[in-house]
Amino acid sequence: MKVSIVGAGYVGLVTGVGLASLGHDICIVEKDERKLEKLNNGISPIFEPGLEELLNKYKEKIIFTNNLKKAIAFSEIIFLCVGTPAQDDGSADLSQIEDAVIQIFRNVNSYKLIVEKSTVPVNTHKLIKWLANRYGGKSEFIDVASNPEFLREGKALYDFLNPDRIIIGVETEKAKKLLLELYEKIDAPKLVVKPATAETIKYTANAFLAMKISFINMIADFCEKTGADVEEVALGIGFDKRIGKDFLKAGIGYGGSCFPKDLKAFIYTANEYGIDFSLLKEVEKINCNRVEKVFRMIKNVLWNLVHKKIAVWGLAFKAGTDDVRYSPAIRLIKKLIENRAYVYGYDPKAIDNFKRSIGFLEGFSAVDDLYEVLDDADALVIVTDWQEFKEADLEEVKKRLKLPIIIDTRNIFDPDNMLKQGFEYYCIGRSGCSNVQKNI
Ligand code: NAD
Repeated sequence: MKVSIVGAGYVGLVTGVGLASLGHDICIVEKDERKLEKLNNGISPIFEPGLEELLNKYKEKIIFTNNLKKAIAFSEIIFLCVGTPAQDDGSADLSQIEDAVIQIFRNVNSYKLIVEKSTVPVNTHKLIKWLANRYGGKSEFIDVASNPEFLREGKALYDFLNPDRIIIGVETEKAKKLLLELYEKIDAPKLVVKPATAETIKYTANAFLAMKISFINMIADFCEKTGADVEEVALGIGFDKRIGKDFLKAGIGYGGSCFPKDLKAFIYTANEYGIDFSLLKEVEKINCNRVEKVFRMIKNVLWNLVHKKIAVWGLAFKAGTDDVRYSPAIRLIKKLIENRAYVYGYDPKAIDNFKRSIGFLEGFSAVDDLYEVLDDADALVIVTDWQEFKEADLEEVKKRLKLPIIIDTRNIFDPDNMLKQGFEYYCIGRSGCSNVQKNI
C-alpha cells in the first residue's frame, strides 16, 4: 500500500520506516529543513536503536519531502504524526494538527483517510471533519480515524513492529478495511472501536502508567522511613499478574515528551467535560516533587552547594534516547546552579539536544566522556539509567571523584556492594544505602 506521513519525528519516522519494512511505499513530509537534509542523506535526525540502519535498508521505499501536495497526491492514507505539546494552561496545543489538515483540505479532490497518530484529545476527529467542511467543502471525501501510537522511545522500532495491540478508531467500513489491511502483517490483537474511544485509550494508557510510577515513588518514600526496600516491594507485587512488573521503578520521576503533557491535557479535557480528575492531579504533584526530593537529598549530603562541583550522568529523560523534553535532569541541574553549584554533565546520546534545549547556562558544562566528567567532583548524581553507567568501572569512578559520593536517582547499583567498595551511596527507597543509615 502507499502511505503518506506528516512529520518525521520520533513517531512519524519510526512509523514510516516500520511500514516500509512491512512492504509499503511511504512518502514522509517534514517541514524542518535541517531534518530533511539529514534524512535525504540517509542520516536519522533522532537517535533510536536500529532506525538509521533500517532507514537505509528501505531507502528505495521511502520518499522524504517538504512538499505536502506531493504527499497528498501520493496516497489516500495520510498519517498525522506532528507534535501536540502542552500549552501553559495544560491543554494540548493542536496548532500543528490544524495547520497540517488545513493544508491537506485545501488540496484534496478525492477520497482521503486522515489518521491521527499524534496523541490528541477526545473528539479531535470531529474538529478535523469540521475543518474539512470549512476549508474544502469536501467532507464526503474525508474519513478521519484515530490510530494512537504506544511506542517507547529507545525501543521504538521494536514496539512499532511488535505492539501489544493495535487500536483502530474508525467510523466507516472503508477506513476500517484500509487500516486492517495496512497492519495485516503485524501479529497483534487489533481492536476496532469508535474514534472517540481510540483517542481516550491513548490518554488512559499514559495516565495509568504515570500513576504506577507515582505510586511506586510514594512507596519508596514509605520504605525510606520504615526500613523496607522498594526494589523488593516492586518485585513482590509485580509477580501478581493483576499488577504487572513494569512501570514500578522508583526514582526521580517520569519525564519525556508524553507523560507530562498527556497528563496535563487529560486533566484539562476532563475538566472541560465537568470532571475533576483529582487522582491525576495528585499523580502530577507527586511526580513534580521527585526532583525537589533529589535536590534536598544532594543538599543534605553535600551541605553547602556553593562552588561545589557536581557531576551528572544522564541528561536524556530516560535511557536509550536522545530526547530531553521534560527531562528531570533539566530541572535538577537548573536548581543546583541556582544554588551556585557548578554542574558537569555527561550523556551518551543527549548532550547536543540538552545544550540546544537549555541554551547558555552559566555554571553548566557538558563533558563528552563518562569518566572525565567526574574529575575532582564532590559527588556524582546519576539521573538516567543508561547501560553504560551500569557497566562503569567503579574503581575508576572512585579514583576520579574528589569524594567517593554517589547519589543514584535510578537505583542502578546494589547498595551493599557499593558500601563494600567504599562509596557513600545514596539511592531511592532502599534499605542498606547511606541515606537510610544516616537518616537523610
Ligand atoms: P516530534 O516533535 O519529534 O515530531 C514532530 C515532527 O512533525 C517534527 O519534526 C516537526 O517538524 C514535524 N511537523 C510539524 N508540522 C508539520 C507540517 N505541517 N508538515 C511537515 N512536518 C511537520 O514529535 P513526536 O515525539 O514524534 O510526537 C508526535 C506525536 O506523537 C505527539 O502527539 C506525541 O504525543 C505522540 N506520541 C509520541 C511518542 C513518543 O515517544 N515520542 C509516543 C507515542 C505518541
